[in-house]
Amino acid sequence: ATPMAVMVGTGIGARNGILFKNAGALEEATKLDVIVFDKTGTLTMGQPRVVDVVPAEGTDADTVLRMAAAVERGSDHPLALAIIERAEGLDVPATGAFLNIEGKGAQAEIEGELVYLGNRRLMDEQKIDLADLSAAADDLKGEGRTVVHVARGGRLLGLVAIADAPRPSAKVTVAKLRERGVEVAMLTGDNEGTAKRIAAELGIDIILADVLPGQKADKVKELQAQGKRVGMVGDGVNDAPALTQADVGFAIGAGTDVAMESADVVLMKSDPHDVLGAIELSRATLRKMH
Ligand code: ADP
Ligand code: MG
Repeated sequence: ATPMAVMVGTGIGARNGILFKNAGALEEATKLDVIVFDKTGTLTMGQPRVVDVVPAEGTDADTVLRMAAAVERGSDHPLALAIIERAEGLDVPATGAFLNIEGKGAQAEIEGELVYLGNRRLMDEQKIDLADLSAAADDLKGEGRTVVHVARGGRLLGLVAIADAPRPSAKVTVAKLRERGVEVAMLTGDNEGTAKRIAAELGIDIILADVLPGQKADKVKELQAQGKRVGMVGDGVNDAPALTQADVGFAIGAGTDVAMESADVVLMKSDPHDVLGAIELSRATLRKMH
């Protein structure tokens, strides 16, 4: 590799908001077989908002929201912020001890009862009967909503449906990568139904859903074990180990500091399409090196 070509490539990248933190990444980017995108905050805007509240029989939407917001006050998860915002103006009760349940949800004591909130897996673990609302939950997932279940005293209180719009360039980025013969995968802690719908919208056919935060790097390793060179694009604290594990890790500039520190390339404009720019630059640099 001529140092001059690498310097020029790195400079062009920097001027275009694509920061290569090391020369190796600039040389590797054109050799990637598969690009794995985190869903929330990478393919989507990461600005979730509540679009629907479905109460169980015998309760009402405001009660569901009040309980959900009370628990979420203890959390800094993006879904928590959406729920708290939606509950503004409601009388949100005080809570006792709060517990974050990583990759699943959270719990807190409210007025002497335990309130659980989170995904299907958490409800199953807590043996909460969803029969009442499981059809509604499936419908919402089919529309691409993230479904937050709220349970109190061992019974399902209701569902909060949350939407997070795809980034405008996500679809064309996927199409162009696939045209170049690069496979595209979606990696998410969200449930399979929701992930499937959003993946279909964006033209992604490899879906790795229901992945716990600690397992994201393992998913990258599994692809590498198939002989593939893997690029990973992410924004969250959760994504950091996967970004490190990948052959080239790309961080969304608007994401967390941890993601940016773990990545080889930072996409300053937070535009997934810049992954293509990085690959082009890599290819041009390699051509000049041989
Ligand atoms: P992601 O990969 O989308 O960043 P996480 O690993 O943080 O997701 O969480 C996985 C899933 O667990 C979420 O999609 C959500 O259903 C549930 N979850 C986690 N934390 C919370 C929370 N504070 N409030 C509601 N749901 C949560
Ligand atoms: Mg994310």
